[in-house]
Amino acid sequence: MKSIAIFCGSALGNKPAYLQVAEKVGRHLAAQGITLVYGGGRSGLMGVVADSALRAGGQVIGVIPKVLVDKELAHPDLTELHVVENMQQRKTKMSELSDGFVAIPGGAGTLEEIFEQWTWAQLGIHLKPCAFLNVDGFYDDLLNFLKTTAEKGFTHPRFIEGLIAEDNIETIVEKFQHFTAPEPKWGMVERTAFIADLEQD
Ligand code: AMP
Repeated sequence: MKSIAIFCGSALGNKPAYLQVAEKVGRHLAAQGITLVYGGGRSGLMGVVADSALRAGGQVIGVIPKVLVDKELAHPDLTELHVVENMQQRKTKMSELSDGFVAIPGGAGTLEEIFEQWTWAQLGIHLKPCAFLNVDGFYDDLLNFLKTTAEKGFTHPRFIEGLIAEDNIETIVEKFQHFTAPEPKWGMVERTAFIADLEQD
């Protein structure tokens, strides 16, 4: 496990626990020698996780679409910053650069990003692990609802079982190291059948 993408809020949220967990994630990845891949901004928890990893001597790669460079305050001190054309390129690039994906607390953008990677695993575009860092019960309702989608016959239970949900980053990284991906729905597919190849940025 060389690199992990962290999806997180562009806001800070309103509980110290969210900021604290973001700091801890950055520190832990750095301590494990794992490169942090993230959205490239300095706003909200995104900035907290990146600063924390950098302070701890870690490698941090940011991927940000042109249009958000000013809005999400592109981070000037990263190991690498990729400025890409659009949101879809951001997500594809982050996916390619990462060996696993973790959502810490965030809003719609965070959910969209982790759900996309989880669905790509189900479709056999990649076999990388996805996790929710469920600090302070933040994701309880969502995780219960995902179980409902399995109970109602829309998500195969093996994909729910394959989704990691823990309240600390140490256990998530540990589980990532030993992860065996569930069998994709239709076997592995050519990624280009679903995703356009990225032009070099
Ligand atoms: P949020 O959780 O809504 O604060 O968003 C967190 C991150 O997700 C921010 O960097 C947003 O730019 C990003 N984001 C928002 N909408 C999308 C989207 N449709 N696809 C990918 N990333 C998004």
